[in-house]
Amino acid sequence: MLQTDVLIIGAGAAGLMCAATAAARGRRVLVLDHANKAGKKILMSGGGRCNFTNLYCEPNNFLSGNPHFCKSALARFTQWDFIGLVAKHGVPYHEKKLGQLFCDNKSSDILELLLAECAEAGAQIRLDTAVHSIEKTAGGFLLQSDLGEVACQSLVIATGGLSIPTLGATGFGYQVAKQFGHELLPTRAGLVPFTLTDPQLKTLCTELSGTSVEDCRVSCNGQSFVENILFTHRGLSGPAILQISSYWQPGDTVHIDLLPHIDLPEWLATQQHERGNSELKTLLAELFTKKMANLLVDSWFANKPLKQYTPGELKAIAERLSDWQLVPAGTEGYRTAEVTLGGVNTDEVSSKTMESLKVPGLYFIGEVLDVTGHLGGFNFQWAWASGYAAAQYV
Ligand code: FAD
Repeated sequence: MLQTDVLIIGAGAAGLMCAATAAARGRRVLVLDHANKAGKKILMSGGGRCNFTNLYCEPNNFLSGNPHFCKSALARFTQWDFIGLVAKHGVPYHEKKLGQLFCDNKSSDILELLLAECAEAGAQIRLDTAVHSIEKTAGGFLLQSDLGEVACQSLVIATGGLSIPTLGATGFGYQVAKQFGHELLPTRAGLVPFTLTDPQLKTLCTELSGTSVEDCRVSCNGQSFVENILFTHRGLSGPAILQISSYWQPGDTVHIDLLPHIDLPEWLATQQHERGNSELKTLLAELFTKKMANLLVDSWFANKPLKQYTPGELKAIAERLSDWQLVPAGTEGYRTAEVTLGGVNTDEVSSKTMESLKVPGLYFIGEVLDVTGHLGGFNFQWAWASGYAAAQYV
């Protein structure tokens, strides 16, 4: 029978950070993962360049049933700590925008950094290894796995969320939580594109597929983001849409201000005064692409020279462009979602140690917990911070 101090299930972002840090404290650490490669999501992340943290990371960049839960861990391992690690390994990086830090080269730089830290500290990683059962014992836990029996003092669940099953995502962490009497908050896909079924909307999106509009304000349920939106064959995507999807529930209306930086009533009034013979399509083509201006006008307004619009009609045009309201049919779901909202209820986990308040020795870190970051490097920062926090106590 294998024996170890700390057994971590999941060799993803949180599991590897926890493994390296706990091993550096002198703990014997074994990481098991059923996948054939560690850190598959890290490799896929940030379009292949891993947006590994955010310069402006703060607790209000996270969604959770308990918004205070993430504060302690985030304060004890900050974005600057991870940036220090990146610098130590000589990984070149840059800020893309909004504080988002990306690798200059490849995401594998971040995975290699974590694997190097694990190797240096002596943490063992076994891939292609499934865990079949877990039992609580007097001294810790006994697991049945593809390696046979494994006994450990501390058991860390770092199996992530349900997003992208083809990258190894499973509901295993939730099952373990349930087995040990933990409450699970309902899970749903987050940071995910919207799908549309309304025929007129769908045609608009299909026609404009591949077109992005910069700096739209997208709002829902009292939250808004100003970022790009992207039209797709299935509906809407792009950073602003992904962000708001985490706040959206089926049936909710999403509000899109396509031109938040322009005072539209004033702009339209000026155009009417100065260029009254120009058609609406021609004028809107100065704010959008020509194709988009044509399609928007064909779908929403009558096209005529601006001088022919009544004040009421101009007001309606301004309102439509600054508050396009739509009810998505749904989201693309876990197949393409970057994260899973919900998960292990943080009320039953210590925010200091990530240890279960129900079962001593059992820890939950990373995305399996009900803590979900905004788009922009925040989810990795949560993985690093929660992994580091648990590593101090396992
Ligand atoms: P994961 O990294 O998902 O690791 C979980 C590990 O557990 C996996 O290795 C998995 O194989 C293993 N596992 C699962 N079930 C079992 C089981 N039954 N037995 C054994 N092992 C198991 N976040 C950012 O901050 N920046 C980005 O640029 C970014 N880009 C992303 C791009 C994509 C396409 C996706 C899907 C996500 C992206 N994210 C990004 C989110 C980020 O990847 C996750 O939030 C983060 O990886 C969560 O870390 P984790 O360690 O909790 O889980």
